[in-house]
Parts: sequence; C-alpha cells; structure tokens
Amino acid sequence: MPQATGRGLYIHVPFCQQRCHFCAFYLEIHHARAAEEFLHSLLTELRLYGEQQPFGPEPLESVYFGGGTPTTLSSPQLATVLSAARETFDLQAGAEITIEAHPGSVTQDSLSHLRKAGFTRVSFGAESMNQLELDRVGRPGSPMSTVQMVTAARQAGFTDLNLDLMYGLPGQTIESWAASLRQIVALAPTHLSCYALTVEEGTALQAAIRRGMVPTPDETLQNEMEDLAEDSLRRAGFTRYEISNYCRPGFASRHNQLHWTGGDYLGLGPSAQSYVAGRRFGNVSDLRAYNTSLRTGTLPVSASEQLTPADEACERLVFGLRLTEGITLKETGALAFSGLTGKVNELIGDDILERKGERVRLTTRGRRYADTVAVTLLASLEHEPHSPPPIDFRTRQRGD
Ligand code: SF4
Repeated sequence: MPQATGRGLYIHVPFCQQRCHFCAFYLEIHHARAAEEFLHSLLTELRLYGEQQPFGPEPLESVYFGGGTPTTLSSPQLATVLSAARETFDLQAGAEITIEAHPGSVTQDSLSHLRKAGFTRVSFGAESMNQLELDRVGRPGSPMSTVQMVTAARQAGFTDLNLDLMYGLPGQTIESWAASLRQIVALAPTHLSCYALTVEEGTALQAAIRRGMVPTPDETLQNEMEDLAEDSLRRAGFTRYEISNYCRPGFASRHNQLHWTGGDYLGLGPSAQSYVAGRRFGNVSDLRAYNTSLRTGTLPVSASEQLTPADEACERLVFGLRLTEGITLKETGALAFSGLTGKVNELIGDDILERKGERVRLTTRGRRYADTVAVTLLASLEHEPHSPPPIDFRTRQRGD
C-alpha cells in the first residue's frame, strides 16, 4: 500500500431520514427546503475556497461525499455539487470519487445518474444482513435492499464498492455474524469496513442500556467477532490494511489513506474537519449557523489551530499505527521527541507495539487498544509545546 500523502476534498451532507440508535454524529432530519438551502450554502463555500485555492496548484486524488446520508440529496443535486467541485479544484486523472449511500435511499436510476455524473465508488451502509439486528438498533432498511442496490450499482457501472458492517450489535451472535459475513462476501465487494458497536454519549442506545432494555456490548464477544472477520475475509481474498478496513488487491480507499498517511484534506459542510498545511480547522456543527455564515460570504470555520511539530509527529504516528504495516518513526518526525520515542519503546516492551524492520506497528493484542495507545502517546508530549488532542483518532466510526 502506498505511503504517499496527497490531497482530498470531503463534503459532509448533514441529513438522514431518521437517527439510528447508536449514532452520535451531528445531523438533521432531511427536509426538502433545508436541503435546498444547504446546497446553496455548500456551493458558496466551494466558491470561497476556489478564491483561496488552499491546495495551491496540486490536483486532488480523492473526493468523498459523507454524512449523514449524502443520498438524501437527489442525484441531480449531488451531480451539481460534484460538478462545482471539479470547476473549483483540479482533480487527478482517475481520482477516487466516493459517495456514501444508504441502500434504502437510492434506486437503479439514481445510481446510474451518479455514475454518469462522475462518481467512481459507492460505499453502502449495510451494517448487518440480519433484519432483527437492524431493527434492534433502529436502523432503517433491509438486507434485501442491500443485495438489490449492490446489484443495481454494478449495473450502473460501479466497479469499486464498499460495504460497512457492524459487530457486537444487540442480540447478535457469533453465528449470525458469520452468516452476515458470508452473505456480504457473496456480494463480491471490493472493500469492507467492519466496526465494533460503541456506545456513544447521548444516544438512544446508551439510554436503552441505562434502562436495562439492551445489554452493554460484550467486549470478549466483539473480539471473537473481529477475529472471525479477519480470518474469513482473509480466506475470501481480502487484505486487512487498517484496523477496521479490508480490501481486495488494489482497492484500498484513497480517502482513508489520506487520513492515515498525513495527507491534506479540506472538509466542507457543517461539522466537517480539515487539515491543510499543518493547520487543523473545523466547521460549525450547526446547519443554521453554517447557512447564516455563508449568506454573509464568511467561511463557517469555528475552530482553527496550527499544529506544532510535536503535534504533527504524534498525529502521523497515531494514524500510521492504525495501518497493518505500521509506519517508520523517521517519516512521522517522532525521532525529534524523546518523550514519544521513549513511550514507543515502552509500548514495545508491553507487547502493544512491535518493530518490523524499520516500521513500528500495533501487535495483534495492541490492535484492541488502539485508542488507548493514541491517548498514551499524546500524554507523552506533556513537556513539549503542543496543542490539545485532536479529533477522533478513528477518523470515522461508521458511515452511510
Ligand atoms: S448511522 Fe448513518 S444513517 Fe444512521 S443516523 Fe448516523 S449517519 Fe444517519
């Protein structure tokens, strides 16, 4: 897998038809008028960045429409945004252009339209192939619609297809997880993302667990499910290239790689995060405030900071460690910070990290503690000039 950094555009569509019980993302329930207004703001935001050209003359290698559920917007609306993005930024020949889609929010016609508009990759939020498991987490849609829309996407000309899956769902057993994996593999996607269910603050799932209506996810069972996924997907020809991501040869997601290899990305839309030339900044997580700001011709950035060299080294290291092949300390810049390198050596002694040639990577055991490793490495910068920790190191929990 290439370790080259690059540049990408992320467009956050903040609408869904309803909120799944486990979801803590910023989003709004879709209404046609709100979507029209958002579209207008988004095009203004693109125009403003077009005047700044934050990437200079370098072309983009990836454009990613995420959310929320981008396909709550109509395919003509999405085509309009993509066309405006193309007019604003240069795209590399063969750039990866992904759209996340809920299988229940697309049709054969809309997928054909999206393909013709230039999208090259679809990422469906399948989550499970068991209807009861979907129902228990308030997830709209059905396994049947996943099967139908994967077929429809192929007929529309998409050859690069991702499916998101979740494990550790309420009532899910090792057998039902194995059955979901078998059915998903039979659909022959090029890429799979498998996420453990996590209980986020303020979600309906958390409330149901507190009331005793749903059990807390069983970590031991989730670990077994993770092992089963790795084993059965490897036998099916997938490579695990990151903690949660598997691909067929040549189909690693370029959008994901940008995040894990220190690439630059510009995020548009409410709550979208950006990282460009060592500066991290994020948009306001409020659609109304986002629209108001853009109506007055002002970018809706609510927080911005220039990373110190220590921050940059730590971020490169933490994200690079998520990759199965790991990363060299040299390319992260971590060698200049004794706190970081000391902590890396300590974690190697604890069988959380290991050296493979020049590279450092998580051990099988360490993969279970990737988020704790991130926090530990950040803490080792205590005596260096650095900013507070960023973001969610997992980049995205689940999509659709
Ligand atoms: S998990 Fe996806 S579909 Fe469900 S509410 Fe969150 S963003 Fe929307």
